[in-house]
Amino acid sequence: MNFHKLGEHTKVKLPILTKKMKKAFSDTEIDRFFLACENADDLLLFHFFLASGERRCEVENEWWSDLDIDAGTVQVTEHPGFTPKDHEERIIPLPDSLLDALRRHRERNPEALYIFGEGQEKMGKPDARLKEIAFRAGINCGHCVNTAGQSCRDFAVCEKAHPHRFRRTYATRQHRRGVPTRTLQVLLGHADMKTTEGYLEAEDAQDISLREKVNAAFGALAVVGGAA
Ligand SMILES: [Zn+2]
Repeated sequence: MNFHKLGEHTKVKLPILTKKMKKAFSDTEIDRFFLACENADDLLLFHFFLASGERRCEVENEWWSDLDIDAGTVQVTEHPGFTPKDHEERIIPLPDSLLDALRRHRERNPEALYIFGEGQEKMGKPDARLKEIAFRAGINCGHCVNTAGQSCRDFAVCEKAHPHRFRRTYATRQHRRGVPTRTLQVLLGHADMKTTEGYLEAEDAQDISLREKVNAAFGALAVVGGAA
């Protein structure tokens, strides 16, 4: 091939990647997910994912010493083998219901180092457990097919059943309650507020007051389409 000629006469078009909107779990999906948890450990683990908004690696590396039950907070902090993203440590307030469950969990595991682990060991990756629960809960998207040809309609393989969705759900639920985006940025440990805003885009489109405005703008039109 004559590269000189190629450079002269060929315009190379780079593919433009679509920025996919990643959605939080809806309230109904969250309710169904927690109803489908079959044991206390799963309930606690995913409650923690939802109510702390932490990244998976952060949840995996929480020590009991990071939890301050009296203050009602958990800290994301450096440990041997774990450095927080961008080297930013942070403190996250937790709801009372989760703190109560953690207190009981500590009574059952007084010697553990990690909140989610046994003895000195941390837990294994929680993704498979999450996918199993999502499948039982009937909240798979129904459109994924894995490399083995299995559809998420029939198997616990939904790509959308992912720990990160709890993090988005954490953000959108608080956004709905009026927690400022700047506060959410700090709680989520985002270096750039654009990332936090990206989390909230899908939520904004579903906002009830926006829907009311859309109805007011277009609802009075005598649009007729489809069967009556
Ligand atoms: Zn799927």
